[in-house]
Amino acid sequence: MPQSPNLSHGRSYLAIPGPSVMPEAVLNAMHRAAPNIYAGELPDMMPGIMADLRRVARTDRHVAIYIGNGHAAWEAALANVIGPGDRVLVPATGRFGIGWGEMATDLGAEVDVIDFGKSSPMDLDRIAQTLRADTGHRIKALLAVHVDTSSSVRNDIKGLRDVLDAVGHPALLMADCIASLGCDVFEMDAWGVDVMVAGCQKGLMVPPGMSFVFFNDKAARLRAAMPRVSRYWDWAPRANPEEFYQYWCGTAPTHHVYGLRCALDMIHAEGIEAVWARHQVLARAIWAACEAWGQEGGSLALNIADRAHRSHAVTSLRLEAPQATALRDWVQGNLGLTLGIGLGMAAPGDPAWHGYFRLGHMGHVNGHMVMGMLGGIEAGLRGLDVRIGSGALEAAAAVISGR
Ligand SMILES: *Cc1c(COP(=O)(O)O)cnc(C)c1O
Repeated sequence: MPQSPNLSHGRSYLAIPGPSVMPEAVLNAMHRAAPNIYAGELPDMMPGIMADLRRVARTDRHVAIYIGNGHAAWEAALANVIGPGDRVLVPATGRFGIGWGEMATDLGAEVDVIDFGKSSPMDLDRIAQTLRADTGHRIKALLAVHVDTSSSVRNDIKGLRDVLDAVGHPALLMADCIASLGCDVFEMDAWGVDVMVAGCQKGLMVPPGMSFVFFNDKAARLRAAMPRVSRYWDWAPRANPEEFYQYWCGTAPTHHVYGLRCALDMIHAEGIEAVWARHQVLARAIWAACEAWGQEGGSLALNIADRAHRSHAVTSLRLEAPQATALRDWVQGNLGLTLGIGLGMAAPGDPAWHGYFRLGHMGHVNGHMVMGMLGGIEAGLRGLDVRIGSGALEAAAAVISGR
């Protein structure tokens, strides 16, 4: 027998914040011969898929589907309501807010960023001040990331609606729920969100390649008032097609449609509220372990201090550099467990880059997976002689067991 056998041979576990773990049922649903795109099952599935997407987003308004990733949904949403010279306000709480704003800049918008840094939620009072100062109502839209996947902050989107209403500002409230849809509580209609973007490869458990733009009637009216919208990004025919190909502006992503159908069935069989509650408990178990590792002089720290502003789908962490990279390498090489790199916290060439990592816990994740991931991290931290507090796994088990 080898002295220290490698323990990575078994089912691998990708615990990065997207693409997320894919259910076997979703993979199996996709494993089939090419379906006809002109008649039959595939076109017949679409009305149900559109309705079930709206149910996940908690809206009874409109949804357009794009063959693309989250960046495609960013551009699609902007292309329908923002043109050259339009003013856009971006309250940024991490890399993704900045990225959406950059995309608006490249479309010719005048973009104002309020940067709240990499470890804090939006300060609604500061946003209110900026909106109040815009007496001419030049700001056409607010681009707000619900969960910024780089910092793992969770922002108060309903609070932003309340601010817009209190100030009496007509700007569109546009939310990026790419990391949060199907994980964190989100109520598009009840929270007064005008436009929302999501992708399929995070909480929705489908391989990357499809994204969604939800919009209400106010946003549809602004779209109708645009001088021009690129034909490919135009959400109007996609949301209200007369022919099947118009859902996609071309050939359907055939197998993704089957995968999405299956994933939506799984989400609605569990119940969206139960899905949210599952993510909450699993996140609390992760936080309990991470907080324990940081005690007693331990060097591990959660990026977001306030539990009320932590995502339930992704957790960003710090370790003294280069231990975060060492930990990722250790658990990957020895256990077959892949953790996420830090994103946007330090430049890739900077030695500090090796002090950040992230845990993805979105979508098809359950109690034993989270306990396994945490156990793997504990083994890695011990294997690397990282100083950690005790009782992390007990703390997580206490949350999972409810005792
Ligand atoms: C993943 C993600 C994106 C980008 O999605 P891609 O599919 O990588 O283009 C944008 N915003 C948030 C919040 C994300 O988590």
